Amino acid sequence: MVNQDIDVIVIGAGIAGLSTAARAAEQGMRVLLVEKMSAIGGSSAMSGGWFAFTGTEEQKAAGVEDSIELFRSDLRKVGAYRNNPALVEAYMENQFETYEWLRAKGVSFGEVEISSGQSAPRGHSTRIREVLQLLHDDFSAHGGETLFDAPVTALHRDAEGRVTGITISDGRQFTAVLGVVIASGGFSRSRELLSVFAPEQLAAIPYGGPGNTGDGLRMAWKLGAGMADMSAISGTYGSHPETTDEQQELLTSYYMGGIIVNVDGRRFVDESLDYKTLGSAVLTQPEALAFQIFDAPVRALSHRGIALKDMDTLEDFGHLPSAPTLEELADTVGIPAGQLVDTIEKYNDAVRGAGADEVGRTNLCNGVGDLRPIETGPFYAYPAKTLMTTTYGGITFTPEGRVTDVDGDIIDGLFAVGEVTGGFHGAAYMTGSSLGKGAVFGRIVAETLVRSYVGAVNG
Ligand SMILES: Cc1cc2nc3c(=O)[nH]c(=O)nc-3n(C[C@H](O)[C@H](O)[C@H](O)COP(=O)(O)OP(=O)(O)OC[C@H]3O[C@@H](n4cnc5c(N)ncnc54)[C@H](O)[C@@H]3O)c2cc1C
Repeated sequence: MVNQDIDVIVIGAGIAGLSTAARAAEQGMRVLLVEKMSAIGGSSAMSGGWFAFTGTEEQKAAGVEDSIELFRSDLRKVGAYRNNPALVEAYMENQFETYEWLRAKGVSFGEVEISSGQSAPRGHSTRIREVLQLLHDDFSAHGGETLFDAPVTALHRDAEGRVTGITISDGRQFTAVLGVVIASGGFSRSRELLSVFAPEQLAAIPYGGPGNTGDGLRMAWKLGAGMADMSAISGTYGSHPETTDEQQELLTSYYMGGIIVNVDGRRFVDESLDYKTLGSAVLTQPEALAFQIFDAPVRALSHRGIALKDMDTLEDFGHLPSAPTLEELADTVGIPAGQLVDTIEKYNDAVRGAGADEVGRTNLCNGVGDLRPIETGPFYAYPAKTLMTTTYGGITFTPEGRVTDVDGDIIDGLFAVGEVTGGFHGAAYMTGSSLGKGAVFGRIVAETLVRSYVGAVNG
C-alpha cells in the first residue's frame, strides 16, 4: 500500500519521536508514528526521568544559581570540547521553550538535583512514563496515527536521492510528503554494533529499550550518513550485577559522599567524574566490578523512588549489604579487610587535609560539594557494574535536525533526533541532557518540517 496523505513519518516512540510527533501534529501536519514494539517508551521509559534545563521555576524555588553560560560551559567541558558547538547552541536557544512546552502539556517537574557533569543543580526529575503518555495522548488528540509492532526495515529514496518513505517488516510501504524522521534510539541492545564501535563495552550489563538494536543508525548509514562520537560510547556506573530490566536500579552514592573501590579494596578513579567516565574505568578493573562504599550519613540521604538516590529500594532487593564495622563489611562482600580499612583511612586523612587524595579527588561531583569522612557505622557496600544504558554516538545532523552524509552534505528528506544522533554530547554525557536532547531537538525538527510545509504550500 502506498499512501499519499502523510506529511511526516516518525520512526520510534521514545521521548525524541514523541516530542517530534506531538509538535508536528499540533502544528497541523499529518504525522504517522511507527513503533517497533507493542507500546511507546523505548529506553526513555526505563530512564531516571531527569531533564537538564536552566532558568526554570523549580530552580528559582530551590534558590539555585545557574545560567545559560554555566550550562553551556558544563556541556562543553563534560564533552571534552569534542561536542559540536552549533548543536550545543541549538539546545541552549531552545531548552527553556521546550521546558515550558512540556509544562503546557501537563508535565510536572519535581526535585532539582545536581548530578553527573553539572556544576549547578540542573537535573529536573519527572515521572517519565507519565511524560511519554501525555505526549502520546496529545499527539493522538491532534489527529496523529501510531502503528505498533511495526519495525521499519528500509528507507526509500527517489531518483534525486531524496528520502521519501519507509518499508516496515510486513512489507507495507508508506510515503511522506515532507520527510522521514529517525528517532529509533541507540544500539545498547546490539552486540553486533557494540562489537564494531565499542567492543570494550561488551563486558557491561546490556540494558536500554528492548527494541534498541540500532536499526535507524544502520538505515541511515546505508544511505551514507556521517557518524559522530562513536569512540566516546560508554556505559554508566553502576548497577548491581544481578539487576533485572524490571528493577531498573542505578546508584550514584559517590556523588553523595561515598567512594568506589575494586575487588582488591583499592580506589582507582576520581569518583567526582561523570558516571560515563566512571563506567569505562570500572570496565578496566578485575571482574569489571567495583563497590560503592559509604557510611550511615550518606545512607540517610536516600530518597525512595528517586532514581540514582534510592538506597531503600536497593536494600529491599537484597542488593545493599551492610555491617557495623568496615572489617565486617569487607568480609561480607569478599574484599580484603586490611586493604579496605587502609583505603578508607587514607581517604579520611585526605578529607581532613592531612595529605593529598590518592586519586586526586577534591569534591563530591564535578567540582562541587565538600567531601566528608567515611566514619559512622553502619557501613555499606553496593557491588556494581557498568550498565550499557545508552550509546549516545550516532548519525550526524545539523542544528535544524537534518541528517548529513559523510561529506557533511544534507541528505534531503531525512531527519534524525534523540539517541540515534551523534555530535551533541562529545566525549561524555551530562545527566538529563539525553531526555533533554530528545525533547529539545524533537521540537526543533518539527519546526523545521513546519517551515518546509509552509514553504511547500506557498511555493
Ligand atoms: C536506566 C537508564 C536511565 C537513564 N536515565 C536518564 C536520565 O535520567 N536523563 C537522561 O537525560 N537520560 C537518561 N537515560 C538516557 C535516555 O533515557 C535515552 O538516551 C533517551 O531516552 C533516548 O530517547 P530516544 O527517544 O532517542 O530513544 P528511545 O526512548 O529508546 O526510543 C526509541 C524507540 O524507537 C523504537 N525503534 C527502534 N528501532 C525501530 C524500528 N526499526 N522501527 C520502529 N521503531 C523502532 C524503539 O522500540 C523505541 O521505542 C537513561 C537511560 C537508561 C537506560
